[in-house]
Amino acid sequence: MPYHSTNDPSHRVDLRTAVLRSLPPDNGLYMPDELPVLPPEFGAGRRGRSLRETGVAVAGAFFGDEVPQTDIEAIVAESLTFDAPVCGLDPCQDPPLSPRDLVLELFHGPTLAFKDFGARFMARLMAWLTRDDDRPLTVLVATSGDTGGAVASAFHNVPGTRVVILYPEGGVSGLQEKQLTTLGGNITALEVAGSFDDCQRLVKSAFLEPGLGERLNLTSANSINLSRLVPQAIYYIHAAAQVDGPPVFVVPSGNFGNLTAGLLAARLGLPVAGFVAATNANDVVPAYLAGGNYEPRPSIPTISNAMDVGAPSNFARMMALFGGSRERMRDQIQGAAHSDGETRAAIRGVFDATGRVLCPHTAVGWLAARDYRATHPGTTTITLATAHPSKFIDTMDAVLGPGVVEIPARLARLANLEKCAARIPSDWPALRDWLLGNAD
Ligand SMILES: *Cc1c(COP(=O)(O)O)cnc(C)c1O
Repeated sequence: MPYHSTNDPSHRVDLRTAVLRSLPPDNGLYMPDELPVLPPEFGAGRRGRSLRETGVAVAGAFFGDEVPQTDIEAIVAESLTFDAPVCGLDPCQDPPLSPRDLVLELFHGPTLAFKDFGARFMARLMAWLTRDDDRPLTVLVATSGDTGGAVASAFHNVPGTRVVILYPEGGVSGLQEKQLTTLGGNITALEVAGSFDDCQRLVKSAFLEPGLGERLNLTSANSINLSRLVPQAIYYIHAAAQVDGPPVFVVPSGNFGNLTAGLLAARLGLPVAGFVAATNANDVVPAYLAGGNYEPRPSIPTISNAMDVGAPSNFARMMALFGGSRERMRDQIQGAAHSDGETRAAIRGVFDATGRVLCPHTAVGWLAARDYRATHPGTTTITLATAHPSKFIDTMDAVLGPGVVEIPARLARLANLEKCAARIPSDWPALRDWLLGNAD
């Protein structure tokens, strides 16, 4: 299937280019030329299909004319090595809890957040697309924390690939640093004597240097890569099959990749009554949906920091899906924004009522879901639980008291592993020399 740029529909490329280049040269975003539709047996209440079976159907619908069925099955099986269960907030569902208040747990992957779904699939699709290249694919990524960990874990031991992660010295948390620096094998961490902005600038220099991209077979694991959205459509379809009528999905949002994946799922035939775009104080999309202008602005720091985005990178895709019409977007998406104070109270309130601990991002979603059900009685909401609370242990300890949230063993054990990183100064010749000197 051909892909085009949201800025210029006549700029068309194949799957390999769309995935390995990530961003079109005109700064738009890649979209498939046509959106496929799944057969009706993927509808609401059609239980019994595994997440992987749904995954093979969704990936096949998008990539089946380029990637053979057996390879799609392998990519899906190696990406989806964990489940995405739909749960009630409380196993007993005693009043006053609503049995229509459901969460979709997306934090059972290796780095405990939903980004594992997209990153793991992207890694394996990239490896497949470059399987006949004579040099390994080099993935260059700058990180201020979480993205690097998800990308490193996703590519670890994927044949024909290597990852070079740049992170700012002293700029990531202790456990985050261990996630980047203890995998070894095809994952190399470079500790840069500089800031996150310096790391990003260095990555940009590498892509601007004439000839280097081809010589090193360079790509970036950018978060707006199309191949990260498609696997995220899978869990929406799987979740809707577990409930009897079309649910409303409530999506804690920052760059709006997750919500865009839901919109793709809706086009595939997902039985859905609508979406709620839930944000923290960074509310440019809810403000637009409420009738204002679309006004990107600098981000505001909050306790749900993975959603601190003032200029959401997937907004252009959302607009493209609705033909640029706010009215059509409003038919399917409602906005909601909640403050840190409300988020803390929600974490506390849900914990006291049910014993369940929501991460700050999930709590923003839960608030939006509660308000939505209050004005739409009888609706079932499914709130996407985007991360495990232990990833935000300082906030959780401050709200619930120390010791309530336990750090899972697979995260805690990293503390005892030895860090392995090469230190480089924050200048382009240093990175270039390192890349050329470690080319294979
Ligand atoms: C990235 C992230 C989000 C926001 O997802 P988008 O696709 O950028 O909207 C929400 N919660 C957590 C925990 C995240 O890591």
